[in-house]
Amino acid sequence: MIYIGNHLSTAAGFAAMGKHALALGEDTFAFFTRNPRGGKAKEIDPEDAKRLCDMLGEHGFGKLVAHAPYTMNLCSDKPEVRDFARRMLRLDLERMEYVPGNYYNFHPGSHVGHGAAAAIPMIADALKSVLTGDDGSLIPWRTTILLETMAGKGSEIGQKFEELREIIDIAEDGLTGVPLIGVCFDTCHVWDAGYDIANDLDAVLTEFDKVIGLGRLKAVHLNDSLNECGSMKDRHEQLGDGMIGLDALRRVVRHPALQGKPFILETPNDDKGYAHEVAMVRDWMV
Ligand code: FE
Ligand code: FE
Ligand code: ZN
Repeated sequence: MIYIGNHLSTAAGFAAMGKHALALGEDTFAFFTRNPRGGKAKEIDPEDAKRLCDMLGEHGFGKLVAHAPYTMNLCSDKPEVRDFARRMLRLDLERMEYVPGNYYNFHPGSHVGHGAAAAIPMIADALKSVLTGDDGSLIPWRTTILLETMAGKGSEIGQKFEELREIIDIAEDGLTGVPLIGVCFDTCHVWDAGYDIANDLDAVLTEFDKVIGLGRLKAVHLNDSLNECGSMKDRHEQLGDGMIGLDALRRVVRHPALQGKPFILETPNDDKGYAHEVAMVRDWMV
């Protein structure tokens, strides 16, 4: 089995998200740690966070997959944008301590012109500095950071598994207590990036294993794609209405290497649509 949920609004707080997820038949969910397009964060009510944690335990939820704001670009060519991103990363991990034991996923970033070779060490360096204290020892965050596989739109880093591998290698160099950094496998993104999960999922996962290691694959974003494989467009579609298709997505849900992981729907839907997709995915589960 897998855990299934979707991206929920934080507007009414933590416990309300837990209730919302339960109402949709979910046993995991995603949420933005702060305004996805601006970066402003609401104050956390520890009581509210505690109520959610109790609910998660009571109902046997899988790990949640929090999402960093889209504006967090650790590899911008502008130093002030990078500094802002590094501050957000640290503050978000502090906020995640109110709901410990979950995942924090982020888009590696966009190099906006100065190239992947310059951008990758910037992302890695930011990760290393948030994972370690001034004396170089590991900070015992109770959250696992995930890098998301990207479609390759614009100047996005993370279209190729090799780029994620490089970030991880530099970030974790000299650190032990592995693996510290995980990966979130977005089906729309990998497809758009050119990995043909519709016709040969096994080959893609074998490639992932060879380059990154399946032990790093901690969560899945389950989306269909409006565009063809390799399009680098990043337009999500409802399950079955895109170019990946129901059969291929069912194989993803059933794949032995992906069992026990949280799957998050990021499909264009309302509550009714999500409840429907959740029920459909539950039907597929092995
Ligand atoms: Fe994402
Ligand atoms: Fe995603
Ligand atoms: Zn996307």
